[in-house]
Amino acid sequence: MEYDVVIGLEVHCELKTNTKCFCGCKNEFGSDPNSNCCPVCLGFPGALPVLNKTAVKYAVMAGLAFDCTINNYSVFERKNYFYPDLSKAYQISQLEYPLCINGKVNINVNGNKKTIRLNRIHLEEDAGKLVHDGVGGTVVDYNRGGVPLIEIVTEPDISSAEEAVAFLETLKNTISYTGISDVKMEEGSLRCDVNLSVKPKGSDKLGTRTEMKNLNSFKAVYRAINYEQRRQIEEIEDGNKIIQQTLRWDDSIGETKSMRNKEDSQDYRYFPDPDLLPVKITDSEIENIKNSLPVLPTKRFENYLELGLSEYDANLLISSKTISDFFNEVNKQVNNAKLVANWVINEVLRKTEDNNILISVQNFSELLIMVSKSEISSTAGKQVLEQLWGTNKTAAEVVEKLGLKQISNTDELKQIVQAAINNNPKSVADYKGGNEKAIGFLVGQVMKESKGKANPQIVNKLLKELLD
Ligand code: ADP
Ligand code: MG
Ligand code: ZN
Repeated sequence: MEYDVVIGLEVHCELKTNTKCFCGCKNEFGSDPNSNCCPVCLGFPGALPVLNKTAVKYAVMAGLAFDCTINNYSVFERKNYFYPDLSKAYQISQLEYPLCINGKVNINVNGNKKTIRLNRIHLEEDAGKLVHDGVGGTVVDYNRGGVPLIEIVTEPDISSAEEAVAFLETLKNTISYTGISDVKMEEGSLRCDVNLSVKPKGSDKLGTRTEMKNLNSFKAVYRAINYEQRRQIEEIEDGNKIIQQTLRWDDSIGETKSMRNKEDSQDYRYFPDPDLLPVKITDSEIENIKNSLPVLPTKRFENYLELGLSEYDANLLISSKTISDFFNEVNKQVNNAKLVANWVINEVLRKTEDNNILISVQNFSELLIMVSKSEISSTAGKQVLEQLWGTNKTAAEVVEKLGLKQISNTDELKQIVQAAINNNPKSVADYKGGNEKAIGFLVGQVMKESKGKANPQIVNKLLKELLD
């Protein structure tokens, strides 16, 4: 029998606010354990939470970036459960009235375009972190407890590991453009749970799902999905039922392990947090937040196609906001999208580590203007770039110093061209006799005489003028 794989993702993303979601403690990765804590985020009796306005703004930005409807009214609720990393024994989250609903993310897998619907994006707080000491003991660091998180929940629209990874890549890239999060999977600021079920091909009834946790890289997501879909199909083919449960992915052995039976929302005894007022946002506040968003990668991609760039190049340019911004700024000055794209992709992107572009927009533009006007050859341009990278020299200085300026001065070139004609009567005769190729030899002579600095286009033109 053939099967369809059905996947829904729940993505957690820590927001890069200065302080935590409901108190003034620092929101910082890598501080000394338990140094960013207070009675509020530790949940001491009587301590009162105060909502961080920036966290709300960031969550709304995420909602707008993914075409969600932003609810003017939303409510924080307590999700009650006991776990040692949760000192309050409840997490402040949203359930009935989330901040954002009904968004979408467009993905492209090998040219196949697909829209993944979002069910919601809500705001909640992170839990602390258990640290296992490796010899059987476990300690807890509450610094992360109370850090603002958004949870992005998809509809079960994803059908393969490839689609899941494409979705996560698009999501991560878009969020990084908004600047609301570091989206670093390795530091845990982006985390993902995978819900997966299988069903007979074409059936419209969803199968029983499992939920996999602890996926901390795109590669782990990919491997876990392929493992779990195979496991479920084998269970069904063996005549067994899929048990709805929470699984832990163990990346080192490449298998899922059962953690617990799946809990439902009623297991958490959600109720509105009596210490927090409902959040009311006006349409004009939403509009203001919308206007503060940068142009997002999907839109930039379209713009690049309109400038005549290939999908491949457009994709490379939008892969980071720093690169895309740099391209846009340079192209404003050079006004030659294809040339600028080639140079940014083949030279700048290759030399750039950690988004550090070690040449200014001004300097790079000057260099490309010289290349586009054939004042220097593109080979010379690359030589100049090597000299400029990481320094504050100007393009003009380096070109001057290395003597790379092409001779484009017609009078100066005319003399060299005339000399080449005089010294090579055979080639001249060949050309005049109809052998167009003979001109190539003459161009070569001029280039040699000028030590490679003659502008070949002008030389060609002059030769033709003088010979015809
Ligand atoms: P919870 O995990 O709190 O129970 P939901 O029931 O809303 O929350 O579902 C969480 C995720 O599981 C969503 O991304 C949803 O699309 C996905 N999902 C729900 N049912 C299925 C299913 N049968 N197969 C695969 N994914 C599913
Ligand atoms: Mg869940
Ligand atoms: Zn605190």
